[in-house]
Amino acid sequence: MFDLIIRNANLPDGRKSIDIGIKAGRIAAVERSIAAQAGEEIDASGRLVSPPFVDPHFHLDATLSLGKPRMNVSGTLLEGIALWGELRPIVTREELVERALRYCDLAVTQGLLHIRTHVDTSDPRLVTVEAMIEVREKVAPYIDLQLVAFPQDGYYRAEAGIEALGRALDMGVDVVGGIPHFERTMGEGTASVEALCRIAADRGLPVDMHCDETDDPLSRHIETLAAQTIRFGLEGRVAGSHLTSMHSMDNYYVSKLIPLMAEAKINVIANPLINIMLQGRHDTYPKRRGMTRVRELMEAGLNVAFGHDCVMDPWYSMGSGDMLEVGHMALHVAQMAGIEDKNRIFEALTVNSAKTMGLEGYGMAAGCHADLVVLQAADVQEALRLKPNRLVVLRRGKIIARTAPRIGELFLEGRPATIDGGRDFVPAV
Ligand SMILES: [Zn+2]
Repeated sequence: MFDLIIRNANLPDGRKSIDIGIKAGRIAAVERSIAAQAGEEIDASGRLVSPPFVDPHFHLDATLSLGKPRMNVSGTLLEGIALWGELRPIVTREELVERALRYCDLAVTQGLLHIRTHVDTSDPRLVTVEAMIEVREKVAPYIDLQLVAFPQDGYYRAEAGIEALGRALDMGVDVVGGIPHFERTMGEGTASVEALCRIAADRGLPVDMHCDETDDPLSRHIETLAAQTIRFGLEGRVAGSHLTSMHSMDNYYVSKLIPLMAEAKINVIANPLINIMLQGRHDTYPKRRGMTRVRELMEAGLNVAFGHDCVMDPWYSMGSGDMLEVGHMALHVAQMAGIEDKNRIFEALTVNSAKTMGLEGYGMAAGCHADLVVLQAADVQEALRLKPNRLVVLRRGKIIARTAPRIGELFLEGRPATIDGGRDFVPAV
């Protein structure tokens, strides 16, 4: 009756010792104990089984390019943009595809099966767009890749910005991007938000803008983005990425802004690793954290997701494709360490990100795609603490990656283990 059963799974919602029956690539049953047998069974033995991680904000065209053509000496956002501007004219389609595929392989082992990537449309060759469309097709059996037309150098500011973005959308890019705070003036930033929302409405596409990625408390493009979202009837289809200026805004202004964002059903995407690395750079002490107001936005009912943003590129020399590393940083920066806080952080890495990307059939309920991850952790709390190995990754009911358990965690779990090399492990007393 089932093709595969995962037994004795703990679920992200707290249910324990659950069996998950899978048939024809979908979840067919989620029950305390499934009596039927299946051709293949996986014993989760009391470990967490989750839907896959979802990264709603990444830069796949720049990833793994660290050191090309040189390192970012200051480590700032602006030097990163300048450095990418040096690499972009000389990068080849083959190189872009090769790096992106390597990252996608890594992502699969981390249980990360859905990625929305911004694709720079500033170079009129659009070799980045050609390459990422090729990658989207190549990885489709195992990763859902969404592409955002991203005018990195400004929609109005870049010489061919308007024309190139339109051409990228004609080529089949999925989402309209933007970067209003990087336009020449506040006024041009505001105009770009209106123009890009109009394009999205005309073409029936979602919107995801890098918005107010600055420490300037007067960078208020998110207000315009929310207002234009309502004006063009795009509610629920628009994401504001970063929104770091909200960290520094006047509290009274924010008390008016957040309800407007809620009315527009804006999807909020914070990028905790990058925000804590790049924001507050002009501060001496005290230094601002720069991440947007995650707790307050969640409490106001907004859909808040977290992105990885960068891995080993001109902006960030770190990163591992592990969304739990993103969640780990998020809960520190947002100071959300309570049990319910951690559950909400985990939701931001999974269901909230899936909602932002508009994914169909995502989740743990019967009828959802059988895309699942068995983690070497008992629950969400431990997963965020340990960033454990993803022991089994399933896509449409088929195993696509396996990773051996980590030996240190086996000891923590109280399971039998030996250390390679033959020495008996004796705890120090
Ligand atoms: Zn970004």
